[in-house]
Amino acid sequence: MNQAKYIFVTGGVVSSLGKGIISASIGKLLQARGYRITIQKFDPYINIDPGTLNPYEHGECYVTEDGCETDLDLGHYERFTDIRTSTANNVTTGKVYQAVIERERKGGYLGRTIQVVPHITDEIKRRMLRLGATGDYDFIITEIGGTVGDIEGLPFLEAVRQLKWELGDDAVCVHLTYVPYIAAAGELKTKPSQHSVKELQGLGLQPDVLVLRSDRELGRGLLDKVGHFCNVEKDCVIQSIDLPSIYEVPIKMAEQNLDAVILRKFGMTCDNPLELDAWKKFIRRREQTSKEVDIALVGKYDLQDAYKSILECLSQAATYNDCKVRTHFIQSEYLTHSNIADSLSGMDGVVICPGFGQRGTEGKIIAAEYCRTHDIPTFGICLGMQIMVIEFARNVLGLEDANSSEMDPKSTNHVIDLMEEQKNITQMGGTMRLGAYYCELSIGSRAYDAYGRSPVKERHRHRYEFSSPYRRQFEQAGMLCTGVNPESRLVEIVEVPACRWYVGVQFHPEYTGTVLNPNPLFMAFVRSAVGSSANQ
Ligand code: GLN
Repeated sequence: MNQAKYIFVTGGVVSSLGKGIISASIGKLLQARGYRITIQKFDPYINIDPGTLNPYEHGECYVTEDGCETDLDLGHYERFTDIRTSTANNVTTGKVYQAVIERERKGGYLGRTIQVVPHITDEIKRRMLRLGATGDYDFIITEIGGTVGDIEGLPFLEAVRQLKWELGDDAVCVHLTYVPYIAAAGELKTKPSQHSVKELQGLGLQPDVLVLRSDRELGRGLLDKVGHFCNVEKDCVIQSIDLPSIYEVPIKMAEQNLDAVILRKFGMTCDNPLELDAWKKFIRRREQTSKEVDIALVGKYDLQDAYKSILECLSQAATYNDCKVRTHFIQSEYLTHSNIADSLSGMDGVVICPGFGQRGTEGKIIAAEYCRTHDIPTFGICLGMQIMVIEFARNVLGLEDANSSEMDPKSTNHVIDLMEEQKNITQMGGTMRLGAYYCELSIGSRAYDAYGRSPVKERHRHRYEFSSPYRRQFEQAGMLCTGVNPESRLVEIVEVPACRWYVGVQFHPEYTGTVLNPNPLFMAFVRSAVGSSANQ
């Protein structure tokens, strides 16, 4: 196959319908039929990237191997397909306008008036086709963020309309909408979905495939009715009902032939068998577990999406350890020495979460102390690792005012300090230490035991680091630096070997865990938590 084929995924009625999961599932199924795929996300918001967005606004910021701060849906794409995404896989209105304006300033438009159509739409189209042009893929799945009808989404949908016209049989549109159940009437209502398709049609776009999201079975009658009113073939109207796990979505989609109807729309037959054995085995293993493990997430956001990849990694690792994970959000801001036992004593394991800024850090330090002194398996991630270091400095090394210079610039013991290369940075966006770096592990450490090899490569997103001049003091008192960057010698991992599993990592291991290749540190942490649960 030489010409890449394009699948565009749009959403209607409301947001949060799981467009990312549907896009990832389509990718998974086509991949399972032997095709080379990639998935990209086009976000209509004006920020250049979500790196500067508050997690309450936009959930977790996912980081790619090449160091791009992206939408959390890219995390789903990687977890489902094991395919690495990159900067090219996430485009925002901000990035599009930035490119167009830079070109205008350089005189690249030869004196013409720059307009949304055609200049912005051309730039969007160029980026939509970019990965397809590499020749590395058979299918490019493009998810359009937001909901049809949003003002800022219009240029993206116009770009899709033009591409669909230009690409002909090489483009297929999938539209995901919502069918609400109206309790008072005892009925599922398809009218909002019909309106959403009309809205798309008004923009010149006819969906080829409809995926209807609802909380219960729709029944063939309703699916046929929607198809009939929306000019969509009956077997191309597919339901997506709430499921216990997002990982079951590809299976449910395959049962309704989502991949087969998409291939048919491209004029292709689905001769290649669907190879989902490993995936199904994972789901079966998940269903068969009865054991439960209680893991606390100590952080400042009580919002699922803020820690999406961590939650997914915990859940994957739990499956491979034959248990289910029950996560408990603990708002660190409200933790004190007198209430910490109430929050953490029943826990089998504790994650000290990443974060920025001072709010909630003193509570996290109290949590770290409790975990270390009560030998609860503990996993500190990024800021969580820095917290472990600060706690150890205060309570074991006796450096009472130990802190990170991020939290207390006046402290005389900055055991966590701004990295040298960060000192002259004034611009906030995209300037952290970002992306994958190597880390060398000490043989015999918990981290080495987990990975079983060295070096490893994990992704970063931080400005502060362990202050190396303190290293000897920490190691003599029992907190070892067991992972370092081979070039810069920056400390990447700390551990207290006297504890069962007390490990802090400066990087974000949650970005590399996938369903079929869970992250080794999460595996080891959950294994240790399961062990601690058995001891209770
Ligand atoms: N605020 C810390 C830093 O910038 C930790 C960042 C994080 O947890 N991602 O170093």
